Amino acid sequence: MIDLKVEETALLAPLDADRMLERTLRWSAINSGTGNLAGLGQMAEELSAAFAQLPGEVTLEAPAPVTAIGADGEEKPLDHGRHLVLKVRPDAERRILLTGHMDTVFPADHPFQATNRLDEDTLKGPGTADMKGGIAVICEALMALERSPAAASLGYDVMINADEETGSLSSAPLIARLAEGKHAALTYEPAARPDGTLAHARGGSGNYSVVARGRSAHAGRNPEEGRNALVALADLAVRLKAMHHEELYVNPARIEGGAANNVVPDHAVLRFNIRPKTIAAGDTFENALATLLDQVAREHEVSLNLHGGISRPPKPVDSRAQRLFDLVRDTEARLGRDLSWQPSGGVCDGNNIAACGVPVVDTMGVRGGAIHSPDEYLIVPSLLERAALSTLVLHRLATGALR
Ligand SMILES: [Zn+2]
Repeated sequence: MIDLKVEETALLAPLDADRMLERTLRWSAINSGTGNLAGLGQMAEELSAAFAQLPGEVTLEAPAPVTAIGADGEEKPLDHGRHLVLKVRPDAERRILLTGHMDTVFPADHPFQATNRLDEDTLKGPGTADMKGGIAVICEALMALERSPAAASLGYDVMINADEETGSLSSAPLIARLAEGKHAALTYEPAARPDGTLAHARGGSGNYSVVARGRSAHAGRNPEEGRNALVALADLAVRLKAMHHEELYVNPARIEGGAANNVVPDHAVLRFNIRPKTIAAGDTFENALATLLDQVAREHEVSLNLHGGISRPPKPVDSRAQRLFDLVRDTEARLGRDLSWQPSGGVCDGNNIAACGVPVVDTMGVRGGAIHSPDEYLIVPSLLERAALSTLVLHRLATGALR
């Protein structure tokens, strides 16, 4: 049963489902794979125009410098798009952070580019759920909030980054800066399940490259003078896998390098990912990794250089964050719908925000499914459902409901 006060019903009146759908269609038609800087530039322009309808100032922030290790072992700069920031009432006593991302996992040459209405309720298309629909929800909910007198007591920053899908490496410092001093945060990743279930606690994630440099030699004439970089990394990969346990998954993913069959290879690169479930498990791993690298380097007489680290710290849900979850669930109940949550193995900007000590619910976006696949879809009515939920949650945050 819907159980809203008169003022809350009035608050929801301006929400416009057609406008949200039109924006989602328009934005999903622009390819904005994380590496497509031109597409990201076009998205940033579109989003700047949409968010300019709110009070405050929209800026596009330069990406922080990021490097990556190439297959040749050399460190190279990695380019990213600019990140959108809107600051509204920065002097308000109670301030919150809303975040989303404009990039998708689909590069410009991926076959999945077009949106397609499968039926009345289902829109298939790249980024429809993850998360251009979610960005439309942010904008719509804030516009509705701004029509309420309660808005005057809430300050907020909106951040829409351009690199979330590859780990937010160039926006992480910006996220940390914006999270500082915030009362709460809402992130608009799609719901964890098509029924609207929220993601609760999350594990973390770290990505690493290890560059091995040995000494090349002829495989037949003087192999004893060679120091095999590839074998050193194969050994390291096996030992890393042995560090896998219940609280920390380790996935050696790829070895690049090597040489012709008659050459002892003098360089190679190993890539691996870890998924720590707790902050302690991540710390313990990083300490053990330093020792392991020393050992392997010594035993194989190669040099090993480590690049990367834990870019998404694990996100436990503490009591303050739980109160924000309760507030979201109670608000959804007032709209006549049940809402539950479950832990997630995935990571997102909610991990980075939680690491700053700010309570966050990070799946406030639309309902949909099959994200990161060519079957990604948005459940169209969820645009309005989630905009109503967000508008009421923002209104309750503005009126001091979260203590
Ligand atoms: Zn996403």
